[in-house]
Amino acid sequence: MNLKIAVLAGDGIGPEVTNEALNVLNAVAKHGGHSFTYTDLLIGGVAIDAEGTPLPQATIDGTLAADAALLGAVGHNKFNSFPPSQRPEAGLLKIRSVLGGFANLRPSVAYKPLADNSALRPEITEGVDIMFVRELLGGLYFGEPRWWNREEKLAHNTMVYSEAEVERVARIAFKLAQGRKKKVTSVDKANVLEVSQLWRYVVDQVAKDFPDVTLEHQLVDSMAIHLMNRPKDFDVVLTENLFGDILSDEAGVITGSLGMLPSATLGGKVNLYEPVHGSAPDIAGKGIANPIGAILTAAMVLRHSAGLEKEAKAVEVAVAEVLAAGYRTADIARGDIAGQKKVSTGEMGKAVLDAIQL
Ligand code: NAD
Repeated sequence: MNLKIAVLAGDGIGPEVTNEALNVLNAVAKHGGHSFTYTDLLIGGVAIDAEGTPLPQATIDGTLAADAALLGAVGHNKFNSFPPSQRPEAGLLKIRSVLGGFANLRPSVAYKPLADNSALRPEITEGVDIMFVRELLGGLYFGEPRWWNREEKLAHNTMVYSEAEVERVARIAFKLAQGRKKKVTSVDKANVLEVSQLWRYVVDQVAKDFPDVTLEHQLVDSMAIHLMNRPKDFDVVLTENLFGDILSDEAGVITGSLGMLPSATLGGKVNLYEPVHGSAPDIAGKGIANPIGAILTAAMVLRHSAGLEKEAKAVEVAVAEVLAAGYRTADIARGDIAGQKKVSTGEMGKAVLDAIQL
């Protein structure tokens, strides 16, 4: 298997955690005789420093020429006074829109050894494995018109979805559910919003093509409560852009640390893979960042771009084993629990690498 990967490591802890993700990809490639090639490209603050722009044209071209894009994180405090369009984060938003991926997959998995890190009781989080499928290119974040008229003291955003936009993301959710516990929970606000009524109508139509998958609809407000009370009941959660942004962050509570969460954005010209966390300026350069979110992101590259499901699973199992063996970066360490091995970014990466059984 040949895979050209654009590597956009970015700022802060981005390069530190991306390095560990690349070690994992290299190990899988070496073992299976696959050819993974990498192109390093600038994005974010490092791109502003080198090229004066957060997303140089060479990065756009290089990413479009790849089979998959692996991003670390962007953001640096020294750009805080810059206008939004010139900040490192603008580079990330632009590459996402250039690539055009519309289905943002955010798994939320509760690893048993981290049960004490969650604000939720262990009996509630144990066994939780939710896949959020968030529509990423539509809804309130992109709808036009949008404006803020300061004189009139009025602001306006538009929530808009076409049937085609809902259908394409719903199909991805149902297909994913077929390979999991065969349940889709579609989240909307159909008791109030016409857009949600269209959403629910289209999802019901798509469901007819997947008779092996159970579909339920939940209103977003009650879903926020169900997620915390009974997260085990959910498998694939399908949402529009805003609701998915909020609910997938809420579900981050289940995992115990932001450093544990991977993501993949599918459906565009090139799939974009990135851990959910940012550049973490408070810990950058200290070698203590948790690389697991980035390593699980590499597993998503294996699954969704390389078609190497067995290898992706092997990486995920290795992460679970390393956590069970007590390895903890600072963010997931608990001083009051015996048997924990406090490790650096590199040591955690190495422990996962050693635990991968291919
Ligand atoms: P952040 O995710 O960078 O950090 C939030 C907190 O979580 C910090 O205390 C940080 O130390 C911790 N944390 C995050 N990732 C961690 C990891 N892997 N291991 C251990 N601890 C980790 O969010 P923020 O502080 O709000 O933002 C910092 C910068 O990152 C800002 O410039 C922001 O705009 C940017 N940002 C970028 C992305 C992205 O690149 N996808 C996402 C969010 C924020």
